[in-house]
Amino acid sequence: MRTMTRKLFVTTALPYANAPFHIGHMMEYIQADIWVRFQRLRGHEVNFVCADDAHGAPIMIAADKAGLSPQAFVGRIAAGRRQYLDGFHIGFDNWHSTDAPENHALAQSIYLALRRNDLIATRTIEQFFDPVKGMFLADRYILGECPKCGAKDQYGDNCEVCGAVYTPTELKNPTSALSGATPELRSSEHFFFRLSDPRCVEFLRGWTQDGRLQPEVANKVREWFSGDGSEDAGAPGGLDDWDISRDAPYFGIEIPDAPGKYFYVWLDAPIGYLASLKNLLDRRGQDFDAYLADPALEQVHFIGKDIVTFHTLFWPAMLKFSGRKVPDRIFVHGHLTVGGEKMSKSRGTGLSPLRYLELGMDAEWLRYYIAAKLNARVEDIDFNTEDFVARVNADLVGKYINIASRAAGFIAKRFGGRLAADPGVEGRALLDGLRAHQDAVAELYETRETGKALREIMMLADRVNEYVDRHKPWELAKHPEQAVLLHDACSVCIEAFRVLTVYLKPVLPALAAKVEAFLQIEPLQWHDAARSLGGHTIGAYRHLMQRVDTKLLDALFEPPAAPAPPAPGGEPLAAEIGIGDFARVDLRIVKIVAAERVEGSTKLLRLTLDAGEGPDPQGQPRLRTVFSGIAGAYAPEQLVGKLTVWVANLAPRQMKFGRSEGMVLAAGHADEKAHPGLYLLEPWPGAVPGLRVR
Ligand SMILES: [Zn+2]
Repeated sequence: MRTMTRKLFVTTALPYANAPFHIGHMMEYIQADIWVRFQRLRGHEVNFVCADDAHGAPIMIAADKAGLSPQAFVGRIAAGRRQYLDGFHIGFDNWHSTDAPENHALAQSIYLALRRNDLIATRTIEQFFDPVKGMFLADRYILGECPKCGAKDQYGDNCEVCGAVYTPTELKNPTSALSGATPELRSSEHFFFRLSDPRCVEFLRGWTQDGRLQPEVANKVREWFSGDGSEDAGAPGGLDDWDISRDAPYFGIEIPDAPGKYFYVWLDAPIGYLASLKNLLDRRGQDFDAYLADPALEQVHFIGKDIVTFHTLFWPAMLKFSGRKVPDRIFVHGHLTVGGEKMSKSRGTGLSPLRYLELGMDAEWLRYYIAAKLNARVEDIDFNTEDFVARVNADLVGKYINIASRAAGFIAKRFGGRLAADPGVEGRALLDGLRAHQDAVAELYETRETGKALREIMMLADRVNEYVDRHKPWELAKHPEQAVLLHDACSVCIEAFRVLTVYLKPVLPALAAKVEAFLQIEPLQWHDAARSLGGHTIGAYRHLMQRVDTKLLDALFEPPAAPAPPAPGGEPLAAEIGIGDFARVDLRIVKIVAAERVEGSTKLLRLTLDAGEGPDPQGQPRLRTVFSGIAGAYAPEQLVGKLTVWVANLAPRQMKFGRSEGMVLAAGHADEKAHPGLYLLEPWPGAVPGLRVR
């Protein structure tokens, strides 16, 4: 066992500050928090920090949409963080922001050091520019047709239909997802971190392969060096220079000596780890540089598998060649699925952490359950409701909590709360057996085999329950002459419960605090498992933990409550969409050149529309047919010659009466029986067929 006090600087990935936390964030924080609490229980010194990742185009655009400054937008998200962190007992020492002054200063200092080291280059690149928004467009803000398969509405970097990977300039008929405008190619000078430099390649080959990474992560990274791991691994050695600049307008950190140029958000995001640490140490009056200069300090990052590249290539190289300490360990975890379903970026998983807390569900049920599923490999873990109920009710409550609840009452009522001084031969053997596992359990926590640690602890709890079943305190209690045996058996149970509580304390900190209060002892440390409480007086037993009621899980996964009933004549607003969603709908001004009743239908009119598309290949005017359910509201002759709005890119629909291409827009009440009336949209004078509605 290590006796020296370790110094640890531990982080979790910085969450992007454009949305509240989802269950995937909580899984990472719980995993890291357990590891940190374990280290502290062992007497080690840990600084455990995180921050909001505040910069970049998505936040700038979301803030704009919300009518807020990016700072105010991020501030609003940040203000919502505490309830999750406190709610799930996540013990960060500091929560900061990458927009804080410490991060601006550190990012600029790291950049200048890289520049002095001749690792910054500039190059002119061609990029799409949105002439309406006046900004260069990131790949995800460009939509167009896939150059390989022709699928429509694909993003600028890869095709979701055929999987092709390409650059945005290869897209056919590109449009800006922000404005719908056709983007223009413009050239701009960009700054690059020269990762292809032989010094970087040599350093990273060593750093990534010296055993500090998990084997599967090290193997993946090795593929990038051999150049067969990614589509764009063009440089010798497989490492490309990294584009680290973005042009104004951009919410980020200005590049020194380069007006109008900003650091790409991924450059300054990991520097936020250091900024959060610096903020913490400054507030404590500690020296940040001296802290990091200590050769004994271990720097550890917990991250998800989707951001491995940033943390195994760019981040260590940035640190190394700016003369700073490089990370010692990168602990990569898989994703969390719920009922086998992958997380949706926009909707999360359906398991809302906030709803979990609002329902009054015990945070430590979730901590225990997640801990029971975790291992040291990069594997996805699944939240399964039956499994959750079984592990909490059968293991946590049934095996562990029950040990105390079965024994504590007798100790209080029969023995004035006082534990036996020496629990006898069999009791000692049982307790020694539990204590003998202390190092094995510690090793499992240390290596993040948390699931195995909990299985080992529950196996020990089984032994204690077998002891209880052999001695049957409830039988002994019926016979006054067996008081000594009863006292010994119940004292052994309380001692065993205390040892198991030490082992579970990294996972269940709040429960451990309740146990400490009930046992009337100081906060438990790891080495306390080896001590004895013989002769100590404990307090009255109070209920420690409920079983899960499956009704709570039903409520947790219920679809969100129905919206409030509409105001008279009103209808609740639909779920929020992004501007990109809206831009995918191509709305055009059209002229109704013909309108006829449809035989066999009282509702439909057949409309012939001119959308300003010019002549077809035969030289005839290109016209569109739409069947519209407005016959009850308009006579055909009222409509001919009118302009209206047409959904141009709605998939055509084969109807009984013919093929309908898109639809025209009309306003109407949700309950058309109670409130009849349809109102076709008509543009103001001056609009002509073919204009796009934006
Ligand atoms: Zn495709």
